[in-house]
Amino acid sequence: MQPFTYVRASTVKEAAATVAAEPEAKFISGGTNLLDLMKLEIERPTHLVDVSRLALDSIEETPEGGLRVGAEVRNSDLAADPRVRSRYPVLSQALLAGASGQIRNKASTAGNLLQRTRCFYFYNRDMPCNKREPGSGCAALEGFNRMHAVLGASEACIAVHPSDMAVAMAALDAEVETAMPDGKTRTIAIGDLHRLPGSTPHVETALGHGEMITAVTLPPPPPGRQVYRKVRDRASYAFALVSVAAVVERSGDRVRSARIAMGGVTPKPWRATEAEYVLTGAATSDPAFSEAAESALAGAVGHGGNDFKIPLAKRTIWRTLAAAVEGA
Ligand SMILES: Cc1cc2nc3c(=O)[nH]c(=O)nc-3n(C[C@H](O)[C@H](O)[C@H](O)COP(=O)(O)OP(=O)(O)OC[C@H]3O[C@@H](n4cnc5c(N)ncnc54)[C@H](O)[C@@H]3O)c2cc1C
Ligand code: SF4
Repeated sequence: MQPFTYVRASTVKEAAATVAAEPEAKFISGGTNLLDLMKLEIERPTHLVDVSRLALDSIEETPEGGLRVGAEVRNSDLAADPRVRSRYPVLSQALLAGASGQIRNKASTAGNLLQRTRCFYFYNRDMPCNKREPGSGCAALEGFNRMHAVLGASEACIAVHPSDMAVAMAALDAEVETAMPDGKTRTIAIGDLHRLPGSTPHVETALGHGEMITAVTLPPPPPGRQVYRKVRDRASYAFALVSVAAVVERSGDRVRSARIAMGGVTPKPWRATEAEYVLTGAATSDPAFSEAAESALAGAVGHGGNDFKIPLAKRTIWRTLAAAVEGA
């Protein structure tokens, strides 16, 4: 591991300013992703600013009836919070489907959103990877790509975003609050936090250098039943091949409103807005679920090894909608 210096921040302002002052400085929270990448010298920060002890570890009610989740709330605590379990079960289910108990005890809300892709070639410094080394090429395009994206990818990069939590947050229309080095703050819709790869896959988010996530706000719970489904190679401790977060509100035998987000198939947490449109007002039964699934994957492109994800994602959407409607 490359040598680095370390400081524990005592205020948000100091943390943001300290990272901003050094081009290769980074925030560190639980360290469960960053330290792995540092050991492999894929991330080579010269200075680490530890934000894990800042007073950002509480979950508070908002005046609007939602919840404000501090950036340092651990994934285990967020999943177990009684308000999250009763009002945002899709989020609790998504968190519990991720990683292992030990990792969830360390992993923070902000770190989970900003964890980097698990593409094998990104982790292998002997292979070309545009995300790790811009302009070097993408080994996954013609390589072993069964874990990779079928929607939203580009010729430069077909990696997926690995977070389960972020998929549920996308379905809930969460907002990310940040603090900037100049002391200003801003709010970013979760759908605008992560960028599609385009020709610059190394630029992954809308955050500037030194901009720190301080909280995630969940709006009041949307009406309807919430379900998260994750399909993976093993029953636990594995990243998603496909995941779906759905919130379905029914009125009699019709869908009044629907929200669908997907993970495992896209470079960023992905709202399937076409599918939501198809479902709204439709009957709560098979033809509508199938049509919604078809429209969600309408633009999907496989790369050989990951072709199976297209039918798998359709079936997962179908099953998640059926489960959401059953108890609605
Ligand atoms: C074996 C294993 C299996 C896993 N399986 C899953 C899984 O199935 N599903 C899943 O979703 N995740 C999974 N994970 C990933 C895990 O959830 C992430 O590693 C974790 O959420 C990252 O959080 P952290 O606090 O440790 O982040 P860190 O490693 O500390 O940081 C990650 C990134 O966030 C940045 N950062 C941290 N805090 C802030 C902040 N406040 N503002 C701005 N930037 C910040 C850091 O600079 C770094 O770039 C797995 C991890 C491992 C090791
Ligand atoms: S898919 Fe993206 S992360 Fe993976 S090798 Fe290609 S450029 Fe790198």
